Amino acid sequence: MSADQKVALITGGSRGIGLGIAVVLAKEGWSLAINGLRDETEVAETLEQLRNFGAKTIYCQGSVSSTEDREAILLQIRQELGQLNALINNAGIAPEERKDLLEATEESFDLLMDTNLKGPYFLTQAVANWMIAQKKNDAEFTGCIVNISSISAHIISTNRGDYCLTKAGIHMATKLWAARMAEFGVPVYEVQPGVIHSDMTAGVQEKYDRLIANGLTHERRWGEPEDIGKAVAMLLRGELSYATGQVLNIDGGMTIREI
Ligand code: NAP
Repeated sequence: MSADQKVALITGGSRGIGLGIAVVLAKEGWSLAINGLRDETEVAETLEQLRNFGAKTIYCQGSVSSTEDREAILLQIRQELGQLNALINNAGIAPEERKDLLEATEESFDLLMDTNLKGPYFLTQAVANWMIAQKKNDAEFTGCIVNISSISAHIISTNRGDYCLTKAGIHMATKLWAARMAEFGVPVYEVQPGVIHSDMTAGVQEKYDRLIANGLTHERRWGEPEDIGKAVAMLLRGELSYATGQVLNIDGGMTIREI
């Protein structure tokens, strides 16, 4: 897929991993719809940074967990950019407080499920229907969907069970949507990041510094948002063809098992 004139929606695209993805896609010539919760004035500098790469960039403020917001985001893209070729389901949250399974609350569970699983699942549904319609109108149309899940889709943390469950759910959603969209030529992939520098991991920097130094990852460094960006850009360029539903582990070799 050439990025010429193509439009990508990146949820949670104004910081952290989402911004890493946006920067790489901007450099490759994609037009960008950046979604997030914050007000546009708070992300103005970041949007400017993306525009400086030459990328046409709009900001779609709204929560992926809200039906109305999801509809408004897609309407805005339709009106301002006219098409949508790639959806990157990246927005996500960790529990406000890491709590043991024996104590974690239903409130945290519901919030994480709404944000990390239900939101992207139904955003995918809406985008999938729009992509099918675009393909019907234009045989040359190309679409692609990428879910950013986590190593937590299959590695447990007993102090954030809710988070792990949402990511395991996204892993299944990848397979479901990959199967459903195959007949329309829209591949659906998943990227499972390891430990990546971002606001989400800022509070556990020291813990992971120590773990990485002691061999948690074979590549002994933190992952950076652009490591994920490069993987997503590769997928959107169509360089992993005949492989819908596949998962890329961008985790410094953390998931290589050893005895
Ligand atoms: P982050 O720095 O905390 O950024 C999260 C982004 O998601 C922000 O842009 C935020 O918007 C947006 N967001 C949160 N709730 C939202 C909602 N309801 N609707 C729309 N946008 C929302 O997190 P990150 O580390 O970049 O994580 C990005 C994704 O990667 C998440 O799905 C996370 O689970 C996954 N991941 C992260 C790591 C890691 O080590 N960092 C590892 C594996 C997987 P605002 O900027 O407007 O607040």
